[in-house]
Amino acid sequence: MSRKPSFLLSSVLSITVSFSTGVFADASHDQSPTFSSTKITPQITLLQGKGGNVAALTGEQGTLLIDDDYLDMSSALKTALEPLGGEEKLTYIINTHWHGDHTGGNKVLGEHATIVAHDNVRKRLLSRQEVKLFNMVSEAYPEPALPSVTYEKSMRLHFNGETVELIHLAKGHTDGDSVVIFKNANVIHMGDHFFNGFFPFVDVGSGGNVLTMADNVAFMLNKIDDKTIIIPGHGPLAKKPDLESFHKMLVGTAEEVQTMKSKGMSLEAMQAEGLSEKWNDWTDGFINTKTWISIVDSSF
Ligand SMILES: [Zn+2]
Repeated sequence: MSRKPSFLLSSVLSITVSFSTGVFADASHDQSPTFSSTKITPQITLLQGKGGNVAALTGEQGTLLIDDDYLDMSSALKTALEPLGGEEKLTYIINTHWHGDHTGGNKVLGEHATIVAHDNVRKRLLSRQEVKLFNMVSEAYPEPALPSVTYEKSMRLHFNGETVELIHLAKGHTDGDSVVIFKNANVIHMGDHFFNGFFPFVDVGSGGNVLTMADNVAFMLNKIDDKTIIIPGHGPLAKKPDLESFHKMLVGTAEEVQTMKSKGMSLEAMQAEGLSEKWNDWTDGFINTKTWISIVDSSF
């Protein structure tokens, strides 16, 4: 991936006045609102902008999008959709979860499409949400920007000759996560259950949990094979060994935090102690080790 991820940053900058400097400060000067486009299969395209990874399934019946980046990326997303048939072709938008770096485009593109998500995504977008860690506030979305089709456990869409399966993974990154499986193409979009190569944000305040998220990832590892192409919520395209490494990191770092907690160490003491060197590669300027320890700590 050519640029650093800027998770939730736009929302932070545009909505709150009291944003204090944080781990994402260095990404605030991103002046290039464009998407890079990668064909995964003849029908499936990855679009990478500023927020979560967007996937498009195109065909005779129209276009299905998975996630739609930040609101301020909407015109860039429309431009990226032009070679795929344009925004008029949009039929479905799936939201993998409520965060603004995955749903902001609903406010512009939602008028053209049916938005589909887990029940809890609609529930959260109906009211004001807060992510305290980033001092981020998200106001209620207007009706056309809300998912109008929601589900509880799983659902299937039959579109463009593809079977699109949505599976809810409970208590993961949030309380409303979907993973999306293109059954025929053997491609999956993991939503924010997978940050490929760096410590993830896990939104414990929105019902997420690092330990359950690790279980959910293990569940998905059992559903895929060596040929499956994995679209992470953030980061470059992946295969099964990448998701296995991510799972090992979740489990391994959680064990280290648990060991420190069992010794009666405070959060500050654990952050001062840090984690094993083998996890250093996962910091990558996004979620640093101290923040990751605090997220894991709040999951116990
Ligand atoms: Zn997220």
